[in-house]
Amino acid sequence: MAGSSQQDTEVSHLLQLETKRQRETINLIAAENYASKAVLEAQGSLLTNKYAEGYPQRRYYSGCVNIDAVESLAIERAKKLFRAEHANVQPHSGTQANLAAYFALLEHGDTVMGMSLSHGGHLTHGAFVNFSGKWYKFVPYGVNQETERLDYDEIEELALKYKPRLIVAGASAYPRIMDFGHFRHIADRCGAKLMVDMAHIAGLVATNLHPSPVPHAQVVTSSTHKTLRGPRSGFILCQKGWASAIDAAVFPGTQGGPLMHVIAAKAVCFFEALQPNFYTYQRSVLENASVLAAELKNLGLRLISGGTDTHLVLVDLSPAGLTGKAAEEALQAAGILVNRNTIPFDTRPPQVASGIRLGTPAVTSCGFGFEEIKQVASLIVKVLSHPDDEKVIREVNTEVKAICQRFPVPGFE
Ligand SMILES: *Cc1c(COP(=O)(O)O)cnc(C)c1O
Repeated sequence: MAGSSQQDTEVSHLLQLETKRQRETINLIAAENYASKAVLEAQGSLLTNKYAEGYPQRRYYSGCVNIDAVESLAIERAKKLFRAEHANVQPHSGTQANLAAYFALLEHGDTVMGMSLSHGGHLTHGAFVNFSGKWYKFVPYGVNQETERLDYDEIEELALKYKPRLIVAGASAYPRIMDFGHFRHIADRCGAKLMVDMAHIAGLVATNLHPSPVPHAQVVTSSTHKTLRGPRSGFILCQKGWASAIDAAVFPGTQGGPLMHVIAAKAVCFFEALQPNFYTYQRSVLENASVLAAELKNLGLRLISGGTDTHLVLVDLSPAGLTGKAAEEALQAAGILVNRNTIPFDTRPPQVASGIRLGTPAVTSCGFGFEEIKQVASLIVKVLSHPDDEKVIREVNTEVKAICQRFPVPGFE
């Protein structure tokens, strides 16, 4: 770029620091992953220069010939990957996808059922601080206190009582398989539509390692950067009859110009997810999560619902006398990243929380196998047993850095 004296050194320095941070920490944040180099390149491409309001062959700008081809590829690949009748790949994020879906399916003030945030649901499923909780009357459902799993009879009872216009299924911190067919049955019984938000499990759904919501829900929303390993973004799938309402709700309903560089990166992500080795990757994510759960349990931690069927594990730290916040901070000091998370029926506020959530998508992308997962589990328990002992934290951090050296983060050299 012209004028080197005017180049921004501050941001490039921060990018270097962030590269180092990503290389030297073990990332067990269940919502994160490492995108491939091809995804990063598409997302960093000059497609960011192009305005393309509208849809392929129906744009409000000239010069969209290549852009149209990119978006059409992304749409076709998404439909093929999830066996869906229609796909909209323009939502900027999972939250934007949900905003548009509600805009298409609901009127202001309608009654909706969604999973309670404190039981594993998402902000956009009716939290009072979110637009969803302010614009719609959300009736929360949760897990059974004994089993810590969804109680479909209780959900059905609530649905028959409140007669929602829409039932939202999907979660950010639920370690078990969800029965979308059962949700559909409940929705049919009370005359509601069903929307499934598969943000966390999209990669598992793409490879049939979690039953697909697509045959059961009128509308399916998702993010692309969690198990799916794509760019930070979102998309919507729906049945044919909802296609024009969903498209209108995304643009012009709730968004302006699409992020064409990110749509290109989504096309790459869907391509990668259609390859046979993506199944192998997702199966390793699941196997690693189940080994992580078994190890943590053997080492004495209490897991919500007793274990996992998915990529994530939710740990109740109250028996260990720790808060989620204290655990997150001690582990971060040792170079292991997790996030504090409320557990069902938590007595602490979300900023403190009684649990931590751990997931295996990111470390599996780095190539971790059972041995590394077992080692990490024992490091976690070591830190949690001595959260204030600086010597222990230092020792663990040395081991963490050695593991990171052997398993470099994919996507950048
Ligand atoms: C992560 C998540 C989202 C939101 O995704 P963003 O891209 O962060 O907006 C929506 N729903 C669920 C269930 C999620 O876990």
